[in-house]
Parts: sequence; structure tokens; C-alpha cells
Amino acid sequence: MRRRGKLEYGYQAAPLRTCVGCRVRTVKSELLRLVAVEGVIVPDLRGRLPGRGASLHPSPRCLELAERRRAFSRAFRAEGSLDTSLLRAHLEGLTPGRSG
Ligand SMILES: [Zn+2]
Repeated sequence: MRRRGKLEYGYQAAPLRTCVGCRVRTVKSELLRLVAVEGVIVPDLRGRLPGRGASLHPSPRCLELAERRRAFSRAFRAEGSLDTSLLRAHLEGLTPGRSG
């Protein structure tokens, strides 16, 4: 039996997305979908928000990488800067036990 890519499950390949932070391609379910609402990036926790989305690992490190590379402006085709404070608070809230 030949091994296929480890990101494939059974016969159907899982949908892949690229993290806008670290640029790693991984299964969609491991990434957080983000959308921009009036210049504010919000995590689309239910995957239901309309509009252009971007994918990010739920990690403050990937957020930092994305900000440094202005990946969000590109992903959302935003002309100005985007507010990531809400997203940052969300990601930091996911990391237990540490603040600051
Ligand atoms: Zn990442």
C-alpha cells in the first residue's frame, strides 16, 4: 500500500488553507477563519460570516507574523490599516495561564 499525503483522509482530500502568518498550508479545520468588518478583523468562529476571509493559526505568533508582513491588507484587499486588537485579544484569551 502506498502512503499518500498525511493531510489526506481516506479517499477525499481535506480542504487546505494557507496561514497568512507563517504561510504553512494545513487543513482548514486547524486554522481560524478571519473576516474584516469595517476595518476590524474579527475571528469567524462559526465560519458563517460573509465576505472575503483569511486563515490564520489560532496563535499570537502567527498574528504577529501576519502583521509584520502586512498580510491582512493583502488578504482583505484593504486600503488602510486594519484593526487587529479584537483578534489579538481573542488569541491571547486562547492561551491559558499567561498574560502580558
Ligand atoms: Zn501560522
